[in-house]
Amino acid sequence: MNAERETIVRMTRDAVDKVRVADIHTHLFAPAFGPLLLSGIDELLTYHYLVAEALRWLPMPAAAFGRLDKRTRADLVWRTLFLERSPVSEACRGVVTALASLGLDPGPRDLAEYRDFFARRNPEEHVARVFDLAGVEYAVMTNDPFDGPERAVWLAGPKPDPRFRAALRLDALLGAWPSAVFRLQAWGFDVEPGLGGRTMAEVRRFVAEWLDRTGALYAAASLPPTFAFPGPSSRARLLAEAVLPAAEAAGVPFALMIGVERGVNPDLGPAGDGLGRADVAAVQNLCRAFPSNRFLVTMLSRENQHELCVAARKFANLMPFGCWWFLNGPGLVREITALRTDLLGLSYIPQHSDARVLEQILYKWKHARAAVGDVLAEKYADLAAAGWRVTEDDIRRDAAALFAGNFESFVAARPAK
Ligand SMILES: [Zn+2]
Repeated sequence: MNAERETIVRMTRDAVDKVRVADIHTHLFAPAFGPLLLSGIDELLTYHYLVAEALRWLPMPAAAFGRLDKRTRADLVWRTLFLERSPVSEACRGVVTALASLGLDPGPRDLAEYRDFFARRNPEEHVARVFDLAGVEYAVMTNDPFDGPERAVWLAGPKPDPRFRAALRLDALLGAWPSAVFRLQAWGFDVEPGLGGRTMAEVRRFVAEWLDRTGALYAAASLPPTFAFPGPSSRARLLAEAVLPAAEAAGVPFALMIGVERGVNPDLGPAGDGLGRADVAAVQNLCRAFPSNRFLVTMLSRENQHELCVAARKFANLMPFGCWWFLNGPGLVREITALRTDLLGLSYIPQHSDARVLEQILYKWKHARAAVGDVLAEKYADLAAAGWRVTEDDIRRDAAALFAGNFESFVAARPAK
C-alpha cells in the first residue's frame, strides 16, 4: 500500500469511527415504555437470531425450548453456541463485542459475572452509557398503534425523550385488515370490511391522528416477497387510498421493508421467519404513481439489491436503506455498500441497527462502521488514484451524510408539487 492510500484509509476509518449515528430503524423503546425496552445478557442470548442458531444443535424440539423460562433458555444458548463451539456467527460475535464494549472481559466466559454486571446497572444511566459508547445520537423506534401495552403508554402521553424518535408501524392495518376493522370500529372509526363507505377517509384520519400523537418521523410496514402494487388486495388499496395520502399530508416518508416470509417454520416463533425475492416493479410503480410521497426502502433478499439501486437512480423519492436481518454480516454489508456506492454515489443510508435489545446497538454500529468504512476507504483511494484530491474534511462531510444527514434531509424534504 502506498503512503497516500494508507493516509486515506486512516482518515476514513477515523471519520467513520467518530461520526454520529441516526439509527433509523430499531425495535428499542424509550425508558418511559417500561418493560418494552429489552436489555441485559439474558435478552441478548435469547434473541431469536441466536435461538435459531442454537436449535440447530440442541437435542430438543423448538416448542419444548420455547416453554423453558428465559434464564434456562439463555443458559442453553450460552452453553451451545459459546462454550461447546466458537461463537463465530455475526449474531454470536455481536454478543462478544457488546460485552467487551461495556468493559466486561469475554475471555473468562463467565455468564454469572455478566448477569451480575447487568443486575447492578442503574437503568437510566445504562441507557445513556450505551448510546454514548455506540455513538448513536438517537434511535428510531417501531411503534405499533395496535399493540395494547404500547398504545396505553402513548395515550397517557409519555414525556418526549430526544434519544428515541417514533416511526408508525402499520403492519396490523395493511397486513391483517379483517382483524384491524373490528379494532378500528371499537375505537370509533367508521370502517367497513369491504373497504366501502367512509372507510378510506376514516383510515386516513386514524393514520393522521397517530402520526401526530407519536411525532413519527415516518410511517412503515414490513411486506412479504409477494407484495404487488398496484393491485386489488386490501393492502394495496389501503396503501394507495388512505396511508400514502395521510403520509403525504403529514409530510412524512413511508418505509417499505420488503421480503419477509413469515412463519416458514412456525414452531420457531419469531426465529421461524424466512425470506424471498420480491418484485422491485412494485416499488417503482409506487414511486411513479406517488411522486409527492417519499419512500424509504429496504429489501431482505440479496438478489433484490442491484435492482433496488437501479430503481433509486430513476426515482429521487426512493431512498434505499440498511442491510437488513439476514444481510447483516460483514461480507454482505461490504458487498451491498460497494454496489450502492458504485451506482448511487453517496445517496443512500448504509445501515440501521434493527436492535431489539439495547446493548445490540453496541455491536451493530461497531461492526457496521468497520464494514462500511472499509468500502469507503477503498472508494476514496481509487478516487485519489484517478487524480482527485481527497481531503479529510470531504471524508467527514460524506460520512456525516451517510450515517445521519441523508436520513434527516429525506425526512425533512417536502417535494415540489
Ligand atoms: Zn425491524
